[in-house]
Amino acid sequence: MGKILVFGGAGYIGSHTCKALTCEGFQPVVFDDLSEGHRDFVKWGPLVKADIRHPEAVRSAIAEHRPEAIIHFAALTSVPDSVSDPGRYYATNVSGSLNIIAAAGEAGNIPVVFSSSCAVYGMPEEVPISETCPTAPITPYGRGKLMVEEILADFDAAHGLRSVALRYFNACGADPQGEIGESHRNETHLIPRAILAALGRIGDFRVFGDDYDTPDGSAIRDYIHVSDLADAHVRACRHLLNGGKSARVNVGSGRGFSVFEIIRAVEAAGAGRVPLKLAPRRAGDPPRLVADTGMAKQLLGFSARHSDLETVIETALAWHRKTG
Ligand code: NAD
Repeated sequence: MGKILVFGGAGYIGSHTCKALTCEGFQPVVFDDLSEGHRDFVKWGPLVKADIRHPEAVRSAIAEHRPEAIIHFAALTSVPDSVSDPGRYYATNVSGSLNIIAAAGEAGNIPVVFSSSCAVYGMPEEVPISETCPTAPITPYGRGKLMVEEILADFDAAHGLRSVALRYFNACGADPQGEIGESHRNETHLIPRAILAALGRIGDFRVFGDDYDTPDGSAIRDYIHVSDLADAHVRACRHLLNGGKSARVNVGSGRGFSVFEIIRAVEAAGAGRVPLKLAPRRAGDPPRLVADTGMAKQLLGFSARHSDLETVIETALAWHRKTG
Protein backbone atom coordinates (compact mmCIF):
# COMPACT_ATOMS: atom_id res chain seq x y z
CA MET A 1 0.00 0.00 0.00
CA GLY A 2 1.04 3.57 -0.57
CA LYS A 3 2.80 6.04 1.63
CA ILE A 4 0.97 8.78 3.44
CA LEU A 5 3.01 11.81 4.52
CA VAL A 6 1.68 12.90 7.91
CA PHE A 7 2.59 16.46 8.88
CA GLY A 8 2.34 16.77 12.67
CA GLY A 9 2.29 12.98 12.99
CA ALA A 10 4.25 13.00 16.28
CA GLY A 11 1.41 14.81 18.05
CA TYR A 12 -1.71 13.57 19.78
CA ILE A 13 -4.18 13.04 16.92
CA GLY A 14 -1.44 12.51 14.32
CA SER A 15 0.17 9.60 16.16
CA HIS A 16 -3.18 7.82 16.62
CA THR A 17 -3.84 8.32 12.91
CA CYS A 18 -0.43 6.81 12.01
CA LYS A 19 -1.37 3.73 14.01
CA ALA A 20 -4.74 3.49 12.24
CA LEU A 21 -3.11 3.98 8.82
CA THR A 22 -0.71 1.10 9.53
CA CYS A 23 -3.60 -1.14 10.63
CA GLU A 24 -5.28 -0.37 7.29
CA GLY A 25 -2.16 -1.26 5.27
CA PHE A 26 -0.82 2.25 4.56
CA GLN A 27 2.77 3.32 5.29
CA PRO A 28 2.88 6.56 7.31
CA VAL A 29 5.90 8.86 7.11
CA VAL A 30 5.91 11.55 9.82
CA PHE A 31 7.05 15.13 9.21
CA ASP A 32 7.21 16.98 12.53
CA ASP A 33 9.56 19.46 14.21
CA LEU A 34 8.82 17.88 17.62
CA SER A 35 8.00 21.32 19.04
CA GLU A 36 4.95 19.74 20.68
CA GLY A 37 5.06 16.16 19.43
CA HIS A 38 7.03 13.29 20.92
CA ARG A 39 9.80 11.24 19.32
CA ASP A 40 8.48 8.07 20.98
CA PHE A 41 5.01 8.57 19.43
CA VAL A 42 6.59 7.93 16.00
CA LYS A 43 6.32 4.14 16.06
CA TRP A 44 4.87 3.22 12.69
CA GLY A 45 7.31 4.68 10.15
CA PRO A 46 10.20 7.08 9.66
CA LEU A 47 10.43 10.63 11.03
CA VAL A 48 11.47 13.66 9.00
CA LYS A 49 12.33 16.18 11.72
CA ALA A 50 11.67 19.53 10.07
CA ASP A 51 9.53 22.66 10.18
CA ILE A 52 6.55 23.32 7.88
CA ARG A 53 7.51 27.01 7.81
CA HIS A 54 10.48 26.02 5.60
CA PRO A 55 9.13 25.44 2.08
CA GLU A 56 12.30 23.68 0.92
CA ALA A 57 12.05 21.10 3.72
CA VAL A 58 8.41 20.42 2.82
CA ARG A 59 9.20 20.09 -0.89
CA SER A 60 12.14 17.77 -0.34
CA ALA A 61 10.16 15.45 2.00
CA ILE A 62 7.48 15.13 -0.68
CA ALA A 63 10.08 14.55 -3.41
CA GLU A 64 11.89 11.91 -1.34
CA HIS A 65 8.86 9.94 -0.13
CA ARG A 66 6.45 10.47 -3.06
CA PRO A 67 3.32 9.98 -0.91
CA GLU A 68 0.01 9.15 -2.51
CA ALA A 69 -1.78 11.36 -0.02
CA ILE A 70 -0.93 13.94 2.65
CA ILE A 71 -2.53 14.40 6.06
CA HIS A 72 -1.80 17.75 7.63
CA PHE A 73 -2.09 18.07 11.43
CA ALA A 74 0.90 20.36 12.10
CA ALA A 75 -0.25 23.49 13.89
CA LEU A 76 -0.08 25.56 17.03
CA THR A 77 -3.23 24.67 18.94
CA SER A 78 -3.85 27.04 21.87
CA VAL A 79 -6.82 29.29 21.13
CA PRO A 80 -5.94 31.89 23.85
CA ASP A 81 -2.29 32.02 22.67
CA SER A 82 -3.51 32.72 19.14
CA VAL A 83 -5.26 35.82 20.51
CA SER A 84 -2.17 37.12 22.33
CA ASP A 85 0.35 36.15 19.60
CA PRO A 86 -1.48 36.07 16.24
CA GLY A 87 1.67 36.51 14.12
CA ARG A 88 3.20 33.28 15.39
CA TYR A 89 -0.10 31.45 14.81
CA TYR A 90 -0.59 32.71 11.26
CA ALA A 91 3.06 31.98 10.39
CA THR A 92 2.70 28.29 11.31
CA ASN A 93 -0.98 27.59 10.78
CA VAL A 94 -1.51 29.57 7.57
CA SER A 95 1.92 30.18 5.92
CA GLY A 96 3.15 26.71 6.94
CA SER A 97 -0.04 25.17 5.53
CA LEU A 98 0.38 27.15 2.30
CA ASN A 99 3.87 25.64 1.95
CA ILE A 100 2.35 22.16 2.16
CA ILE A 101 -0.53 22.92 -0.20
CA ALA A 102 1.73 24.55 -2.82
CA ALA A 103 4.20 21.64 -2.65
CA ALA A 104 1.35 19.10 -2.93
CA GLY A 105 0.15 20.93 -6.04
CA GLU A 106 3.62 21.16 -7.63
CA ALA A 107 4.23 17.45 -7.02
CA GLY A 108 1.19 16.50 -9.14
CA ASN A 109 -1.82 17.41 -7.00
CA ILE A 110 -1.27 14.97 -4.16
CA PRO A 111 -4.59 14.99 -2.27
CA VAL A 112 -4.63 16.57 1.18
CA VAL A 113 -6.61 15.80 4.35
CA PHE A 114 -6.52 18.86 6.59
CA SER A 115 -7.17 19.22 10.34
CA SER A 116 -9.73 21.96 10.58
CA SER A 117 -11.85 22.71 13.62
CA CYS A 118 -15.35 23.54 14.78
CA ALA A 119 -13.71 26.88 15.75
CA VAL A 120 -14.54 27.98 12.16
CA TYR A 121 -18.19 28.32 13.27
CA GLY A 122 -17.43 30.82 16.05
CA MET A 123 -20.60 31.32 18.11
CA PRO A 124 -23.08 29.21 16.11
CA GLU A 125 -26.73 30.13 16.25
CA GLU A 126 -27.99 26.61 15.58
CA VAL A 127 -27.10 23.37 17.32
CA PRO A 128 -26.43 20.67 16.13
CA ILE A 129 -24.05 22.41 13.74
CA SER A 130 -24.11 21.28 10.14
CA GLU A 131 -21.54 22.14 7.48
CA THR A 132 -23.99 24.62 5.94
CA CYS A 133 -24.07 26.76 9.10
CA PRO A 134 -22.36 30.11 8.54
CA THR A 135 -18.65 30.25 9.36
CA ALA A 136 -17.74 33.19 11.58
CA PRO A 137 -14.59 32.38 13.56
CA ILE A 138 -13.83 34.72 16.45
CA THR A 139 -10.14 34.02 17.12
CA PRO A 140 -6.94 33.99 15.04
CA TYR A 141 -6.82 30.20 15.59
CA GLY A 142 -10.29 29.71 14.05
CA ARG A 143 -9.71 32.31 11.32
CA GLY A 144 -6.44 30.56 10.39
CA LYS A 145 -8.27 27.23 10.00
CA LEU A 146 -10.89 28.84 7.77
CA MET A 147 -8.21 30.62 5.68
CA VAL A 148 -6.53 27.28 5.00
CA GLU A 149 -9.88 25.76 3.98
CA GLU A 150 -10.31 28.65 1.53
CA ILE A 151 -6.76 28.25 0.17
CA LEU A 152 -7.49 24.57 -0.41
CA ALA A 153 -10.72 25.45 -2.24
CA ASP A 154 -8.83 27.96 -4.42
CA PHE A 155 -6.15 25.38 -5.32
CA ASP A 156 -8.85 22.91 -6.27
CA ALA A 157 -10.62 25.48 -8.46
CA ALA A 158 -7.37 26.60 -10.14
CA HIS A 159 -5.34 23.39 -10.32
CA GLY A 160 -7.58 20.44 -9.39
CA LEU A 161 -5.89 19.77 -6.02
CA ARG A 162 -8.50 17.79 -4.08
CA SER A 163 -8.79 17.91 -0.29
CA VAL A 164 -10.96 17.06 2.67
CA ALA A 165 -11.02 19.48 5.60
CA LEU A 166 -12.15 17.66 8.72
CA ARG A 167 -13.70 20.04 11.22
CA TYR A 168 -13.11 18.27 14.50
CA PHE A 169 -15.03 18.91 17.67
CA ASN A 170 -13.21 18.04 20.96
CA ALA A 171 -10.63 15.29 20.57
CA CYS A 172 -10.28 13.12 23.68
CA GLY A 173 -9.35 9.70 25.03
CA ALA A 174 -6.30 7.57 24.25
CA ASP A 175 -5.26 4.51 22.30
CA PRO A 176 -7.15 1.54 23.86
CA GLN A 177 -3.90 -0.50 23.81
CA GLY A 178 -2.13 2.26 25.76
CA GLU A 179 0.68 2.77 23.23
CA ILE A 180 0.06 6.51 22.83
CA GLY A 181 -2.16 9.15 24.40
CA GLU A 182 -2.67 12.84 25.07
CA SER A 183 0.52 14.46 26.41
CA HIS A 184 0.46 18.13 25.55
CA ARG A 185 3.24 20.02 27.34
CA ASN A 186 0.87 22.78 28.40
CA GLU A 187 -2.43 20.94 28.73
CA THR A 188 -5.49 23.13 28.16
CA HIS A 189 -8.17 20.54 27.37
CA LEU A 190 -10.91 19.74 29.88
CA ILE A 191 -10.71 15.95 30.16
CA PRO A 192 -6.95 15.62 30.73
CA ARG A 193 -7.01 18.62 33.08
CA ALA A 194 -9.84 17.10 35.15
CA ILE A 195 -7.95 13.78 35.32
CA LEU A 196 -4.63 15.46 36.20
CA ALA A 197 -6.39 17.49 38.91
CA ALA A 198 -8.00 14.34 40.36
CA LEU A 199 -4.62 12.59 40.33
CA GLY A 200 -3.10 15.57 42.18
CA ARG A 201 -0.75 16.51 39.34
CA ILE A 202 -2.10 20.01 38.71
CA GLY A 203 -3.32 22.37 41.40
CA ASP A 204 -5.45 24.83 39.51
CA PHE A 205 -8.55 23.37 37.88
CA ARG A 206 -11.24 25.89 37.02
CA VAL A 207 -14.71 25.54 35.53
CA PHE A 208 -15.41 28.60 33.41
CA GLY A 209 -19.08 29.54 33.79
CA ASP A 210 -21.89 27.76 35.65
CA ASP A 211 -24.58 30.18 34.51
CA TYR A 212 -25.05 29.15 30.88
CA ASP A 213 -28.51 28.39 29.58
CA THR A 214 -27.88 24.62 29.79
CA PRO A 215 -29.44 22.02 32.13
CA ASP A 216 -26.66 22.23 34.76
CA GLY A 217 -25.34 25.71 33.84
CA SER A 218 -21.98 24.52 32.46
CA ALA A 219 -20.90 24.56 28.80
CA ILE A 220 -21.72 21.59 26.56
CA ARG A 221 -19.24 20.15 24.07
CA ASP A 222 -19.12 17.25 21.62
CA TYR A 223 -16.29 14.85 22.57
CA ILE A 224 -14.90 12.58 19.86
CA HIS A 225 -12.55 9.75 20.80
CA VAL A 226 -9.13 10.09 19.15
CA SER A 227 -9.40 6.54 17.72
CA ASP A 228 -12.62 7.60 15.99
CA LEU A 229 -10.89 10.71 14.66
CA ALA A 230 -8.05 8.52 13.36
CA ASP A 231 -10.62 6.35 11.58
CA ALA A 232 -12.19 9.45 9.98
CA HIS A 233 -8.76 10.37 8.54
CA VAL A 234 -8.23 6.94 7.04
CA ARG A 235 -11.70 7.19 5.49
CA ALA A 236 -10.99 10.69 4.15
CA CYS A 237 -7.76 9.38 2.55
CA ARG A 238 -9.63 6.53 0.92
CA HIS A 239 -12.31 8.92 -0.33
CA LEU A 240 -9.66 11.06 -2.05
CA LEU A 241 -7.62 8.09 -3.31
CA ASN A 242 -10.80 6.72 -4.88
CA GLY A 243 -11.22 9.98 -6.80
CA GLY A 244 -13.73 11.58 -4.41
CA LYS A 245 -14.42 15.32 -4.51
CA SER A 246 -13.17 17.95 -2.11
CA ALA A 247 -15.30 18.48 0.99
CA ARG A 248 -15.48 20.09 4.40
CA VAL A 249 -16.83 17.66 6.95
CA ASN A 250 -17.69 17.86 10.65
CA VAL A 251 -16.23 15.09 12.79
CA GLY A 252 -17.97 14.72 16.12
CA SER A 253 -19.95 12.16 18.05
CA GLY A 254 -23.24 14.03 17.67
CA ARG A 255 -23.74 14.03 21.47
CA GLY A 256 -22.98 16.77 23.94
CA PHE A 257 -21.73 16.51 27.52
CA SER A 258 -21.52 19.33 30.03
CA VAL A 259 -18.39 20.20 31.99
CA PHE A 260 -20.01 18.92 35.19
CA GLU A 261 -20.99 15.63 33.49
CA ILE A 262 -17.33 15.16 32.47
CA ILE A 263 -16.15 15.84 36.00
CA ARG A 264 -18.65 13.34 37.44
CA ALA A 265 -17.53 10.73 34.87
CA VAL A 266 -13.86 11.24 35.83
CA GLU A 267 -14.75 10.74 39.48
CA ALA A 268 -16.95 7.71 38.70
CA ALA A 269 -14.05 6.10 36.81
CA GLY A 270 -12.07 6.05 40.05
CA ALA A 271 -9.64 8.90 39.40
CA GLY A 272 -10.46 10.49 42.75
CA ARG A 273 -12.27 13.69 43.59
CA VAL A 274 -11.76 16.52 41.12
CA PRO A 275 -10.91 19.64 43.14
CA LEU A 276 -12.47 22.51 41.22
CA LYS A 277 -12.86 26.26 41.44
CA LEU A 278 -15.69 28.09 39.74
CA ALA A 279 -14.61 30.96 37.52
CA PRO A 280 -16.51 33.41 35.28
CA ARG A 281 -17.30 32.51 31.67
CA ARG A 282 -14.44 33.09 29.21
CA ALA A 283 -15.11 35.55 26.39
CA GLY A 284 -16.05 33.73 23.21
CA ASP A 285 -16.95 30.38 24.80
CA PRO A 286 -20.29 29.31 23.27
CA PRO A 287 -22.78 27.54 25.56
CA ARG A 288 -23.18 24.51 23.24
CA LEU A 289 -21.14 22.99 20.43
CA VAL A 290 -22.48 19.72 19.07
CA ALA A 291 -21.88 18.33 15.57
CA ASP A 292 -24.45 17.34 13.03
CA THR A 293 -22.77 14.11 11.89
CA GLY A 294 -24.88 13.47 8.77
CA MET A 295 -22.30 14.44 6.16
CA ALA A 296 -19.49 12.38 7.74
CA LYS A 297 -21.77 9.38 7.62
CA GLN A 298 -22.99 9.98 4.09
CA LEU A 299 -19.67 10.92 2.47
CA LEU A 300 -17.17 8.87 4.48
CA GLY A 301 -19.37 6.13 5.97
CA PHE A 302 -18.10 7.39 9.34
CA SER A 303 -19.75 7.15 12.70
CA ALA A 304 -18.16 7.27 16.12
CA ARG A 305 -17.65 3.87 17.77
CA HIS A 306 -15.40 4.69 20.74
CA SER A 307 -16.85 8.01 21.86
CA ASP A 308 -19.15 6.88 24.69
CA LEU A 309 -18.11 8.74 27.82
CA GLU A 310 -17.00 5.62 29.73
CA THR A 311 -14.53 4.57 26.98
CA VAL A 312 -13.23 8.11 26.61
CA ILE A 313 -12.54 8.56 30.32
CA GLU A 314 -11.31 5.00 30.90
CA THR A 315 -8.71 5.16 28.07
CA ALA A 316 -7.60 8.69 29.02
CA LEU A 317 -7.28 7.78 32.71
CA ALA A 318 -5.31 4.60 31.90
CA TRP A 319 -2.90 6.68 29.79
CA HIS A 320 -2.36 9.31 32.49
CA ARG A 321 -1.85 6.63 35.16
CA LYS A 322 0.71 4.89 32.95
CA THR A 323 2.64 8.07 32.18
CA GLY A 324 2.50 9.63 35.66
P1 NAD B 1 -0.52 18.38 18.84
O1 NAD B 1 0.13 19.65 19.31
O2 NAD B 1 -0.40 17.18 19.71
O3 NAD B 1 0.01 18.03 17.38
C1 NAD B 1 0.49 19.00 16.47
C2 NAD B 1 1.84 18.51 15.94
O4 NAD B 1 2.33 19.48 15.00
C3 NAD B 1 2.90 18.38 17.04
O5 NAD B 1 3.50 17.11 16.97
C4 NAD B 1 3.90 19.48 16.73
O6 NAD B 1 5.24 19.15 17.10
C5 NAD B 1 3.72 19.64 15.23
N1 NAD B 1 4.10 20.98 14.76
C6 NAD B 1 3.71 22.18 15.27
N2 NAD B 1 4.31 23.18 14.58
C7 NAD B 1 5.08 22.60 13.61
C8 NAD B 1 5.91 23.10 12.60
N3 NAD B 1 6.10 24.42 12.42
N4 NAD B 1 6.53 22.22 11.78
C9 NAD B 1 6.36 20.87 11.94
N5 NAD B 1 5.58 20.34 12.90
C10 NAD B 1 4.94 21.19 13.72
O7 NAD B 1 -2.05 18.77 18.58
P2 NAD B 1 -3.31 17.83 18.32
O8 NAD B 1 -4.23 18.02 19.45
O9 NAD B 1 -2.88 16.47 17.90
O10 NAD B 1 -3.96 18.59 17.06
C11 NAD B 1 -3.66 18.20 15.71
C12 NAD B 1 -4.39 19.11 14.76
O11 NAD B 1 -5.80 19.03 15.00
C13 NAD B 1 -4.04 20.58 14.87
O12 NAD B 1 -4.02 21.13 13.57
C14 NAD B 1 -5.19 21.16 15.67
O13 NAD B 1 -5.37 22.54 15.38
C15 NAD B 1 -6.34 20.33 15.16
N6 NAD B 1 -7.49 20.23 16.09
C16 NAD B 1 -7.32 19.65 17.32
C17 NAD B 1 -8.42 19.53 18.18
C18 NAD B 1 -8.30 18.89 19.53
O14 NAD B 1 -9.31 18.79 20.23
N7 NAD B 1 -7.12 18.43 19.96
C19 NAD B 1 -9.68 20.03 17.77
C20 NAD B 1 -9.80 20.61 16.51
C21 NAD B 1 -8.70 20.70 15.66
